[in-house]
Amino acid sequence: MADLIVIGAGLSGLAVARRASASGADVVVLEARARVGGRVLSHRTRSGAYDLGPAWIWPAIQPRVAQAAREAGLILIEQTAAGDFVYQDHSGRTQRLSHGFAQEPPSMRIVGGVTALVEAVASGLAPTVVRLEHVARRVVLTGAGVEVTVETPAGALTLHAPRLVLAMPPRLVGQLAIIPALPLAVQQVLAAAPGWMAGQAKALALYDRPVWRDSGLSGGAFSQAGPLGEIHDASLPGAAEAALFGFFAWPPALRATPRADLRSLVARQLRTLFGADAAPPREVIIQDWIREPFTATMADHHDDNSHPNYRPIRFPAPWGERIILAGTEVAAAFAGYLEGALAAAEAAVTGTASASSG
Ligand SMILES: Cc1cc2nc3c(=O)[nH]c(=O)nc-3n(C[C@H](O)[C@H](O)[C@H](O)COP(=O)(O)OP(=O)(O)OC[C@H]3O[C@@H](n4cnc5c(N)ncnc54)[C@H](O)[C@@H]3O)c2cc1C
Repeated sequence: MADLIVIGAGLSGLAVARRASASGADVVVLEARARVGGRVLSHRTRSGAYDLGPAWIWPAIQPRVAQAAREAGLILIEQTAAGDFVYQDHSGRTQRLSHGFAQEPPSMRIVGGVTALVEAVASGLAPTVVRLEHVARRVVLTGAGVEVTVETPAGALTLHAPRLVLAMPPRLVGQLAIIPALPLAVQQVLAAAPGWMAGQAKALALYDRPVWRDSGLSGGAFSQAGPLGEIHDASLPGAAEAALFGFFAWPPALRATPRADLRSLVARQLRTLFGADAAPPREVIIQDWIREPFTATMADHHDDNSHPNYRPIRFPAPWGERIILAGTEVAAAFAGYLEGALAAAEAAVTGTASASSG
């Protein structure tokens, strides 16, 4: 029997495992996907890694992410915005504007992608701690702690531990069979907390060179027409290629066109924005998070893009004596962000310690 089971090997769950292991606990992390990182995902080319999930951190105001990046020896680069940016209205007409997309404090990117940060956190764990392709389905409170039933490629498995940390978006927590069932009010609180950016999709366009810079453009754009709504330069310093990334303005239903068509529409929009004479992207990669069952739920199809007013969620007794929530959405600070994922992990480890002593 482990001392602690963690469900979810995103940044938050890995950070919980790292902290708990460091204080001597025997930890098991159950991860549904065949990879760690959750919403952190990078597309790798021979020149580097480009983020298809989170890309920006703000170390000036986010102490935990700043420290984790420092400890991992990661190189940070400022989001480039030099040059003019382009505005596209509803009708598709474009306008060139000389004042760019000023970010204060500046958004920083991680060379190697945010995956490098996640891998650094995971590398501190013994190889047997993280169990990939282990989908948690059922949690039963027992006299001694919890019993967790998981689906694995080799069949169902039951694990036991005195404590459990759920490091996953609250709406996915709501999909677990928790026995005895949580009070209705708690189920409603879980359902009301959208997975941050779970309804979003990102496009990455790779070019042989930064064609937009030929005409003094920054690669930044805002569009009311779509498919992309906000675009930024994603190029890496010294790389033998260039890149743009964009967030989709189109909601999930509009994005549900065949993938090849969506890629063509993105390529066409980029040519409209950055120069019809310029070479088109050599490749467009699309990551639609709404299609990921371990990130998004049906309810996430309908959320707007405004930042929800997240609050920490704690289960009442008897559940709360054994089960603690982590994951960015329950953080007391920077909920939704990578910093929040680390803050929630910190609070969860403190919570499991006080639950153990209580
Ligand atoms: C497109 C996009 C852009 C973003 N941009 C930024 C940004 O620029 N800066 C920033 O700070 N943040 C950004 N974010 C948010 C950031 O990604 C999150 O804050 C962070 O990754 C959350 O980490 P987490 O560990 O809390 O959750 P997750 O990464 O979602 O991890 C949860 C884990 O639980 C696993 N899981 C779920 N259900 C089960 C189950 N039943 N059994 C086992 N495992 C399960 C999942 O597979 C996943 O690995 C962005 C997110 C997206 C999608």
